[in-house]
Amino acid sequence: MLSLSNTNFINSPVEKIFFENRFFYIKRDDLLHKDFSGNKARKFLYFLVNQFDNIHTVVSYGSNQSNAMYTLSVLAKMKNWKFIYFIDHISSFLSSQPIGNYKHSLDNNMKIFFDKTEYFKLKATNPKGYLFVDEGGAIQEASYGIKTLGAEVEEFARKNKLKNPKIFLPSGTGTTALFLQSCTKIPVFTSPCVGDSNYLKQEFFNLQNNEQLHPTILNPIKKYHFGKLYKNFYDMYKDLLNQTNIEFDLLYDPQGWEVVLSHPHIFDHETIYIHQGGIIGNESMLERYKRKWV
Ligand SMILES: *Cc1c(COP(=O)(O)O)cnc(C)c1O
Repeated sequence: MLSLSNTNFINSPVEKIFFENRFFYIKRDDLLHKDFSGNKARKFLYFLVNQFDNIHTVVSYGSNQSNAMYTLSVLAKMKNWKFIYFIDHISSFLSSQPIGNYKHSLDNNMKIFFDKTEYFKLKATNPKGYLFVDEGGAIQEASYGIKTLGAEVEEFARKNKLKNPKIFLPSGTGTTALFLQSCTKIPVFTSPCVGDSNYLKQEFFNLQNNEQLHPTILNPIKKYHFGKLYKNFYDMYKDLLNQTNIEFDLLYDPQGWEVVLSHPHIFDHETIYIHQGGIIGNESMLERYKRKWV
């Protein structure tokens, strides 16, 4: 288990890879820590390293395979907090045979409740001792850990004398991309995986009024529905794995890499792609892909 005095884990390696005949740098936030990794670890770092004497329970809501849910379950375990999580539905398949983030969160003593609206009702009563974390960790406190990411990427760019570095990462809520651009002068590019670019822009404004500090949004090359299975996503996942030996996430990264590969004039050999973790979530995604195509 991660000890609180060990803050060493907040520094992930950067690797140079060769993919589709081009060089890229990968910031390996998937390797931050065995149980506490990816951008959710950066988002919740604030809660990990600070002392909260009055908190006894963390409460959140979202999908039943969310990476944020799993990372909160780890945080709660490390902090000795209870963890309550609201979902809207669960299939009888998943509830009889839990896998992926859902299984591992239950193993960490997550308590499931139904109906997201109950989350907001509970939050509105402002009960003592509860920490409320909105879906996906789209919260101001996330900026604390994402600043450490920004500082590490800047240090890498400086040490390696990159002349014109740029950062790419795919977005869900856009929280990671937004706070990253707020703390670094290196241009940050992203593409929306959950809604469209208007949705993402709105998310940016919810967290940061100053549009000058927003990342640049690039459109996906096709319209996709978040969480659906696409043959080209699975192919991209396998190509990445085969050519780079790195496993990427199946929800965000295939679409992200499509955008990167389709803009070679922007994403040259000084591109730093942020690997935001999510590998445990692949357990359930791979199961679904295999039932469909393998
Ligand atoms: C949560 C997550 C994202 C999206 O992060 P946002 O900050 O919500 O944009 C991207 N990739 C992975 C692997 C994630 O777990």
